[in-house]
Amino acid sequence: MRILIVEDEHRIAESIKKGLEQESYAVDVCFDGESGYDLASTEDYDLIILDRLLPKMDGLAMCRQLRKDNIHTFILMLTAKGQTEDRVEGLDAGADDYLVKPFAFEELLARIRALNRRPKTQLSNILTMNDLTLNTLSFEVKRGATVIKLSQKEFALLEFLMRHPNQIVNKDQIIQHVWDYDSDILPNTVEVFIRYLRNKVDRPFKNKPALIQTIRGFGYKIGK
Ligand code: CA
Repeated sequence: MRILIVEDEHRIAESIKKGLEQESYAVDVCFDGESGYDLASTEDYDLIILDRLLPKMDGLAMCRQLRKDNIHTFILMLTAKGQTEDRVEGLDAGADDYLVKPFAFEELLARIRALNRRPKTQLSNILTMNDLTLNTLSFEVKRGATVIKLSQKEFALLEFLMRHPNQIVNKDQIIQHVWDYDSDILPNTVEVFIRYLRNKVDRPFKNKPALIQTIRGFGYKIGK
């Protein structure tokens, strides 16, 4: 899952980024509304954490503009104000949820998980492909009854593939969703991580069909 944080208080932005990265999210940060809007409208995010009071373009205006542009990325708005009318204003501008500062990081995580559970592609926290299951909450991956241990990036890559079952995804899409904006990722790195995943998800299960497939010249897919 790839998240954009738009927050002008650098200290808060950096601490949210750090915490989210520990939870295996790919995170980009920017510090004003205009650059936030540029990133949100050109890059493909799963969630935007948006401060309400921002220089150049405030959070409400940015939110309204994105919705007007038909961009429906989940938006979680942050604000120091907790009054009812402020929350209503944020939600009416198109935000999906609202969190009042200061907040406990645990609550932010819970809200991200809740947004992630909303129907978009899959209803459940458990993604499945044949006998392979991935639990997006407990981070558990299993093939049949066998638990498979994955690194954070391997998990993120497998989750991305499993959110697009039987669809071909190319290396650029994978890089966008699994690595953050600042990472120096070469297409070659994707191949390396696909190989790591195969070695854990397919190769040990010789009697079962291989699930991760290379579609030469196009990309990869997970499926039959
Ligand atoms: Ca602010």
